[in-house]
Amino acid sequence: MAKINPNYQKLSAGYLFPEIARRTSQFTNANPNINVMRLGIGDTTEPIVPSVLKGLHQGVDNLGNAESYSGYGPSEGIPSLREAIADYYSEYNANIDSSEIFVSDGAKSDSANIQGIFSSDCVVAVQDPAYPVYVDSNVIAGRTGLADENGYKGLVYMPCREDNSFFPDLPEEKVDLIYICSPNNPTGAVATKEQLSKFVNYAREHKAIILFDSAYASFITDPDLPRSIYEIEGAHECAIELNSFSKTAGFTGVRLAWTIVPKACVAEDTEPGTLHSLWTRRQNTFFNGASNIVQEGGVAILSKEGRAETEEQVAFYLENASIINHGLQSKGITTYGGGNAPYVWLKTPNNLSSWEFFDKLLNECHVVGTPGSGFGPAGEGFFRLSAFGHRENVEAAVSSIAENLVI
Ligand SMILES: *Cc1c(COP(=O)(O)O)cnc(C)c1O
Repeated sequence: MAKINPNYQKLSAGYLFPEIARRTSQFTNANPNINVMRLGIGDTTEPIVPSVLKGLHQGVDNLGNAESYSGYGPSEGIPSLREAIADYYSEYNANIDSSEIFVSDGAKSDSANIQGIFSSDCVVAVQDPAYPVYVDSNVIAGRTGLADENGYKGLVYMPCREDNSFFPDLPEEKVDLIYICSPNNPTGAVATKEQLSKFVNYAREHKAIILFDSAYASFITDPDLPRSIYEIEGAHECAIELNSFSKTAGFTGVRLAWTIVPKACVAEDTEPGTLHSLWTRRQNTFFNGASNIVQEGGVAILSKEGRAETEEQVAFYLENASIINHGLQSKGITTYGGGNAPYVWLKTPNNLSSWEFFDKLLNECHVVGTPGSGFGPAGEGFFRLSAFGHRENVEAAVSSIAENLVI
């Protein structure tokens, strides 16, 4: 008799996005002539830049003749892409060898899968609020108890609030796996070198591992802010980094990402090299590599032209974020993020709950955003607006907020 993995039943129902959809369609059914504007979605909207399209076309053409045809590649990725990624890191003095880079089809799946090389009794710490997959993958793996209004039992929540500039204090208890996302989804906060150093020192002292999600690193414009955790002294011994071409190059539908497991990285019970071997084994066993066509697109993203064109597109989204920030601030709303990230994190006016503000924004302004409480208990009282969107749509939504929001 087959039985299911009972941990799936612990998952607090995928509440956030279905509930947004339910409330939005209730509104549009009641108001069929009103056009609802969306600032809620964490997905890119602008077309892929020309040099990257050329790379993708090249990837297709390579398959059309015998000399350049390839089938299964190395599951860690094609050498030219791994080397181009290593070169990119060397610009930030992050010193990563190409053999430490594992190309994949997504940072979401890697961030769900990476916990699988660690013991089931590891204590997990997450930023609160956080990108949901860090929590859910550990719930499914059995590292937590049931959820209540304070979150899952057994999981260590590290609150990110105004009083700590949305970067957590060190956990008081000993934890083993620490998820940090910078620039952060949903808060838009970027960790400084000093903030990351504290966690790196903690991790080295306790032989903990930091799982560092830098999917939005290309949105950092401030040269003093670290784009990689490996800019921090000692991080190679204690950190695994996950990054992606999704938001940098409009690859959310194309799918291409990478994870870095330095050979120096060690857990409590391993020598240098063991974690690197385990992830190699995991990928070779469960994964046959990212698409060869798409990897040529990745090489093109990291070419000189590709870098220039994708940076321009990232700047376009950051300009959207700036438009959103100015519009909200003109209403006296307190906002965070947006300067080095595609998300604006606003404090709800008049102490409204995240969902109360959702309804208010929808009813008064016809704008849909994302309630902060959906990302974790400490997100209550906050709200995420996304800078991914066509300019005219972002401007229309912001004008509507400026004109119609009653505060
Ligand atoms: C969008 C996003 C990613 C990218 O995931 P892919 O699977 O590579 O598309 C990773 N982390 C965070 C926090 C994100 O918001």
